[in-house]
Amino acid sequence: MRIVEIREQSIPLQANIQNSVVNFAEHTVSLVAVVSDVIRDGRPVVGVAFDSIGRFAQSGLLRERFIARLAKAAPEDLSDDAGTGIDTEKAFRIMMRNEKPGGHGDRAHAVAAVELALWDLNAKLAGVPAWRLIADRFGVTAAARMPVYAAGGYYYPEDSVGRLQDEMRGYQDLGYTSFKMKIGGASLAEDMTRIEAALAVIGDAKCLAVDANGRFDTPTAIAYGKAMAGFGLRWYEEPGDPLDYRLMDELAKVYDETLATGENLFSCRDVDNLIRYGGMRPGRDLFQMDPGLSYGLGEFGRMVAAMEQAGFSRKQLFPHGGHNIALHIVVGLGLGGSEAYPGVFAPVGGYAPDCTLEGGAIAPGDKPGFGLEQKPDLAPYIEKLTA
Ligand SMILES: [Mg+2]
Repeated sequence: MRIVEIREQSIPLQANIQNSVVNFAEHTVSLVAVVSDVIRDGRPVVGVAFDSIGRFAQSGLLRERFIARLAKAAPEDLSDDAGTGIDTEKAFRIMMRNEKPGGHGDRAHAVAAVELALWDLNAKLAGVPAWRLIADRFGVTAAARMPVYAAGGYYYPEDSVGRLQDEMRGYQDLGYTSFKMKIGGASLAEDMTRIEAALAVIGDAKCLAVDANGRFDTPTAIAYGKAMAGFGLRWYEEPGDPLDYRLMDELAKVYDETLATGENLFSCRDVDNLIRYGGMRPGRDLFQMDPGLSYGLGEFGRMVAAMEQAGFSRKQLFPHGGHNIALHIVVGLGLGGSEAYPGVFAPVGGYAPDCTLEGGAIAPGDKPGFGLEQKPDLAPYIEKLTA
């Protein structure tokens, strides 16, 4: 088989919401389709993926560099050993030709969108759901379901506390048993009131995590840590700048509860540095790297290996995401879980209707690939891109 064409389309995110740092209303996503020369049911087999939520499309980078390099490669330079699919590592190396080390940024998302589309293509060619192919390739016993929590808890301009409680009740009604809310967008005193209000609805503090979205400096991160220590929350996420490892290290010395970070680290080297200098504690703290933001599954697999080599369990990895691609990856690699964004970040956010939520955990559907075509809001975009 060979690749005939790779297409990209920037699509808008439906999310007029705000955390402590960014408003998502202007965010876009790169939807990528890799068209193969294999014809089934009268149509070419096409691999589809996108990068991730909370960033911007990388149309220029994709067209001028990464798709262009793959288009120039000879079919035998991309083919796997059996000749029946694409070797994603070979494709990764071709995409990264003449790219300097470090300075990962948007490049990491662009490459990820293509690399993940190749995984979707390989799974479709093999006729299996992506999680099964991933489990086979990485030698993992896949989980049946992915523990999931409802990520939200936003700030509202009016009746912020009352609406926060309504939002949490809404997630409970949908069947979610764990939750995450934003902090850092108000004063410390107001945020403590908000946490107490959310806990009044949720009950168990071990079912509520908080996310500062990288807002705090070290003294503020520590002040929040001290103020929240008594709650016994599930975790305290991204207190400071994602690359401020000293902040994490200093906070870990005074905050005995679980810390979480990593969604804005885009390479294995950055994760190495978090492990070396960030004070992360095996058996306690959580990593949240997102394969869609960090070069795809190949680099993500190296991050998992780095964690395990340093004594962490892969169950301490809860990738940022909240969509079908993350679901298949978490299940296929046997990770701890991931998030869900009920009602926001359409059309890429959320899970397809054939994914079932039961006891706070989601199971993927059984269609080949990541099952993105099963999402009614995303399917028209895929149909248009692949027509
Ligand atoms: Mg976060």
